[in-house]
Amino acid sequence: MSVVLNETHDPTLQSWVASANAPDTDFPVQNLAFGVFRRAGAPEGFRVGVAIGDQILDLGAALRSGVFVHQPAPALKAAQACDSHTLNALMALGSSHWSALRLALSRLLRTGAAEQAVLQACLQPQDQAVYAVPAQIGDYTDFYTSIHHATNVGKLFRPDNPLLPNYQWVPIGYHGRSSSIGVSGQAFHRPLGQTLPPGASSPVFGPSKRLDYELELGVFIGNGNPLGEPIALDAAEDHVFGLCLFNDWSARDLQGWEYQPLGPFLSKNFASTVSPWVVTLEALAPYRRAWVRPADHPQPLPYLDSTTLRREGALDIELEVLLQTAVMRAQGQPAQRISRSNFHHAYWSVSQMVAHHTVNGCNLQPGDLLGSGTQSGPNPEEAGALIELTVGGKQPLTLANGETRTFLEDHDTVVFRAHCAKEGAARIGFGEVSGTVLPARASVGA
Ligand code: MN
Repeated sequence: MSVVLNETHDPTLQSWVASANAPDTDFPVQNLAFGVFRRAGAPEGFRVGVAIGDQILDLGAALRSGVFVHQPAPALKAAQACDSHTLNALMALGSSHWSALRLALSRLLRTGAAEQAVLQACLQPQDQAVYAVPAQIGDYTDFYTSIHHATNVGKLFRPDNPLLPNYQWVPIGYHGRSSSIGVSGQAFHRPLGQTLPPGASSPVFGPSKRLDYELELGVFIGNGNPLGEPIALDAAEDHVFGLCLFNDWSARDLQGWEYQPLGPFLSKNFASTVSPWVVTLEALAPYRRAWVRPADHPQPLPYLDSTTLRREGALDIELEVLLQTAVMRAQGQPAQRISRSNFHHAYWSVSQMVAHHTVNGCNLQPGDLLGSGTQSGPNPEEAGALIELTVGGKQPLTLANGETRTFLEDHDTVVFRAHCAKEGAARIGFGEVSGTVLPARASVGA
């Protein structure tokens, strides 16, 4: 796949939905992110919508209004696939259908569209909506694509051997659990489990004391591949529907005790949270940049390398982490930003994750989710997890109100946001993903 900018990316486009023209909106007409919503408190099912300004276009309602009847067949078929409670049917259609629907939506929602009066009745305000996980996620795999995160965390777990020798050759990942993935607003109990106290020779059981977040992007797979048929690197992005924000909550003390030899297990699978909106790869086209591997590092094996990757395989996505404590909430203070990073620092690209995942013949399916791994930048303040920001809990973070944190406390809310901005392109954003830590449940058997 090669980057093609088309009329849908034109930064001068405006929408008849006035809020979509605000300079700081995440959802201008150039974005057209997909999600699954319903009206809060209404006796109705979840359905597919597209974010536009502070509104949601209900795609099922738009379909029934007749505005897609005269659209090209792929756009009509894609709109029909949106008459559903998940994005899976749309995801399964593939990139030519996604692109046709994007073009149709861009024309329907831009200023001067003849369909404005009809579509006005298909809008719902975002602040009156509740959301669901946008797709039924069959399988979820978490990668580890930030070499800065891998090195920082490796130093804490293995001071003498921070970066394992396979890291620069293999896009490292593990198979996670999809059943505990929730949507923004998720609240979960602090997990219980086994940990090995420092200096002890046998573990103790109880609530995690080192609960952390991981700043990640989620990659939603579109059309999959048959078992046994790998996806080549340069075809990989045709199989990617889009990206969302993803918080891979992690219990570091459980992780430290359990992770060898088979990797994370109960330290990760108690909860993970996605943002409600999925930004398509096509919407991100203006924000591509060269994928770079430093000359003094091992270069990727041929199945993970191409001229297209080198030219445009990375994505420039600004990421930020915010924290709101119970005290801040009680005093009406908003969440405070505690770090920023950028997805272009990733050591492995989205296409490399897909190509590597399938190179042995493993089949991906529509709605599968790939986590990017914690996105830490090269500088300490760009760390994507508390374990790095506080150097393993040794250097507490002091918040503006004087509170300190090493790891997360009960009732803390963590918020991630992301956006893309540059000269000559429309600013687009991902909305946000938030989640809240609840106190541990009474101990099992206590
Ligand atoms: Mn992770």
